Amino acid sequence: MTSPAPRIGIVSLGCPKALVDSERIITRLRAEGYELSPDYAGADMVIVNTCGFLDSARAESLAAIGEALRENGKVIVTGCMGVDDAEIRARYPNVLAVTGPQKFADVMKAVHAAAPAPHDYKRDLVPPAGLHLTPAHYAYLKISEGCSNTCTFCIIPRLRGPLVSRPAADVLAEAEQLAAAGVRELLIISQDTCAYGRDIRYRASQWRGKDVRAHITDLSRALGELGIWVRLHYLYPYPHVDELVELMAEGLILPYLDLPLQHAAHGVLRAMKRPADDERMLRRIEKWRAICPDLAIRSTFITGFPGETEEDFEHLLEWLKAARLERVGCFAYEDVSTAPANELPGALPMEVRRQRRDELMRRQAEISASILERKVGMRTQVLVDEIDDDQQLVIARTRWDAPQVDGEVWIARDMAPEAAPGDLLDVRITGARTYDLEAEPASAE
Ligand code: SF4
Repeated sequence: MTSPAPRIGIVSLGCPKALVDSERIITRLRAEGYELSPDYAGADMVIVNTCGFLDSARAESLAAIGEALRENGKVIVTGCMGVDDAEIRARYPNVLAVTGPQKFADVMKAVHAAAPAPHDYKRDLVPPAGLHLTPAHYAYLKISEGCSNTCTFCIIPRLRGPLVSRPAADVLAEAEQLAAAGVRELLIISQDTCAYGRDIRYRASQWRGKDVRAHITDLSRALGELGIWVRLHYLYPYPHVDELVELMAEGLILPYLDLPLQHAAHGVLRAMKRPADDERMLRRIEKWRAICPDLAIRSTFITGFPGETEEDFEHLLEWLKAARLERVGCFAYEDVSTAPANELPGALPMEVRRQRRDELMRRQAEISASILERKVGMRTQVLVDEIDDDQQLVIARTRWDAPQVDGEVWIARDMAPEAAPGDLLDVRITGARTYDLEAEPASAE
């Protein structure tokens, strides 16, 4: 008689990059014959993949470790917060192991020590495309680890180290496997997607019998050959974004620029150690829209950075009004322990940081509503994400919207009764809210 395989639970916190790390861990666990448990009660142990970016995320990670210890008792900690081993152990001396981000071998070592891998499984437990925590029709694909920039508010380079890029052929092979497994949309992620390949001097590797350079333009062009949606995230405003916009105009990748700009006032951008020419950025946006009129730009901003004056904030609001970005997210500046920005003079009260964030989002809501209003009557293609049985809605997304962070398209269920997640539907936009759209199948016209 064989003993049942140990069951492992996983709690995944943080951004899509951390989610991909969790996917790698569960893929290795299944490949070795472990079972996965969806709850604490059924698990022999729990892995908590933490986020350590902001102090609020660290607090959430500590709370999650505490909950896993309470509910299960056997806990392995990994992820960004794992670099602060001492802080975690001071609070929770009973955790089985603490490892940092991307330390997959160390996680597996800790799992083996607590529950040896089963030796008697005979099935191939892992599909070629690996295991994913996202719905089957989209997947995050990480092209590099780490970051070599020095933005003063950010501790990612300390947590995850400098840029380390994957060879283009590796990325493309994984993308092909995902497409073959039925993925309709690839979300390309890294800390700084434009920097891809710089650390390996853009070295070429062989894919489909030809050389592909490890450069984001060449990689994107090759990904465009797969015939599925390809969406680029976390682009830093390097000059070669212009080349990517040309690929978007050609229809090879989605016309979606996720470009976290953080601010528009020179002084604040300089203090952040970010590119600081807001006028030039406006001209570039104008140029990109001329090249690719269908383009949607998403950006994120920080309000209340140390030293941000009332004029700086007003300047940011005016800049946003001129730029008319389709999608905007905003964070009130948070002190992140060990971030260089903490040492800067001019710290603002949290209340002011949050008021400015709320004001920015209020202004952006008006911009978003007026942009979406203009889409009413337009025909477009959407990707179905889910069926909401309670509200009798098909929830879908346009090519201008990324999952989780952007808007949705709502279609009455009875107008598309056959629709299922992963379907591409041709629709006509019939209504617009602040961030979301309503639509009906184009065939209903
Ligand atoms: S580019 Fe992004 S990950 Fe890199 S230091 Fe700046 S904010 Fe952090």
